[in-house]
Amino acid sequence: MMFPISVASPVRFPGPPPKAADVVVIGGGVIGVMTAWYLARRGVRVVLCEKGRIAGEQSSRNWGWVRQQGRDPAELPIMIEALSIWKGLEAEAGASLGFRQTGVLYIANGARDMAAHEAWTAHARAHGIDTRVLSRSEVAAMLPGDAGWTGGIWTASDAQAEPWIAVPRLAEAAAARGVRIVENCAVRALDITAGRVAGVMTEMGRVAADRVVLAGGSWSALFARTHGLGLPQLSVRATVAATAPLPQIFPGAAADSRFALRRRQDGGYTLALRLTHDFYLGPDAFRLFRTYLPLIRKDIAGTRFKPAAPRHFPDGWRTPRRWTAEGETPFERMRILAPEPDPAQVERMRDRFAAAFPGLGRPLIAAAWAGMIDTMPDVLPVIDHAAALPGLTIATGMSGHGFGIGPGVGRVTADLVEGRAPRHDLAPFRLARFGTYV
Ligand SMILES: Cc1cc2nc3c(=O)[nH]c(=O)nc-3n(C[C@H](O)[C@H](O)[C@H](O)COP(=O)(O)OP(=O)(O)OC[C@H]3O[C@@H](n4cnc5c(N)ncnc54)[C@H](O)[C@@H]3O)c2cc1C
Repeated sequence: MMFPISVASPVRFPGPPPKAADVVVIGGGVIGVMTAWYLARRGVRVVLCEKGRIAGEQSSRNWGWVRQQGRDPAELPIMIEALSIWKGLEAEAGASLGFRQTGVLYIANGARDMAAHEAWTAHARAHGIDTRVLSRSEVAAMLPGDAGWTGGIWTASDAQAEPWIAVPRLAEAAAARGVRIVENCAVRALDITAGRVAGVMTEMGRVAADRVVLAGGSWSALFARTHGLGLPQLSVRATVAATAPLPQIFPGAAADSRFALRRRQDGGYTLALRLTHDFYLGPDAFRLFRTYLPLIRKDIAGTRFKPAAPRHFPDGWRTPRRWTAEGETPFERMRILAPEPDPAQVERMRDRFAAAFPGLGRPLIAAAWAGMIDTMPDVLPVIDHAAALPGLTIATGMSGHGFGIGPGVGRVTADLVEGRAPRHDLAPFRLARFGTYV
């Protein structure tokens, strides 16, 4: 199995874009697609520009977990709504998204882990989520393996969906509702007139619109910065592997402190190492080092520092920070941000899987890939108007858990764009929480 979305994938939504719209959405990941979806539902004329392919980046490369469990409490109201949206999404889209409420299991590898998991259940109780604490034997009954597991927590209502199937199908359904999607169409810059947004300059020409949504995933900070807007966002590389089909030992998603697995609809498992990522140093990483220090300290054991990102990455040493809308920009130079997976990590996943499930042995790997996870210093997204640039709304920095919450963030962002009450407290997601940073 090759990773299913690449620059070789046919363009399903060709250009050029129309000359005008009510709203332009930048980015065809789950956040951009679902924001456009909700706007179109209200009769808003939306153009969505994607520099590469729909869901080519994080939105297809993720683990596919749709979870409430373990989230920051600030996100829980939107996540609870997202889960209820997911439940009706296949019917609304008229297509299978691989959505299944098969539960999420967090397993403890000792007393410290167990205490942290148990502490989180207070948030579940406060929000009426069905999370349960499991004993060692309850974990063993649920997931027949052993890697020194001492107990865990379990949320039966948590779910999964198939990322590289779901988001492209949602985009097709959004297009059927009137969203004008254009792939291979990088937005080079905002068109700003008299201090406010008047449209976007794309590689296929200008689109006039007085409202624009920036949902550019790992590219959002680079884009914002060219307009003097500071977004303290960084990205890390995370490696994932898909096993060939294997017997079902567990239908849902589970993780201990060392590795994570999810049973896919095609009968294989999606595997990853828990809390392991590569941090490429670049100009933004240096500039933001102090801001990120608490996060770096917390994750130090799982962070591998690399002196430089590969060419053309958003925080590459030679990636331009300024450009004109007339020429090629960094967005066209990297249509799909597709980092190489780390083969050593894939081998470790196989080892850990085999050690935990000796009956299944070392799994055959059908595909391995990596994604750049975009994050904010407090691991919470930015969902806000850009005060300094009237007309611009930002929905980015999903910090490694934007797939599951995506439909909820899309609904909220569409309300923000429309000037309606978003129905949730968005104070934790304000851009101004980072102060003024450029
Ligand atoms: C390995 C991995 C595992 C993960 N596991 C989970 C999980 O299990 N559950 C979960 O909830 N989340 C998970 N996540 C996180 C989740 O995938 C992301 O938070 C989510 O997909 C982000 O969606 P997005 O739309 O913000 O960004 P993206 O999906 O990255 O989309 C942004 C899009 O914007 C486009 N773009 C950028 N700039 C421009 C421009 N100037 N012009 C035009 N287009 C542009 C890009 O090409 C890209 O397609 C994981 C992420 C990774 C990488």
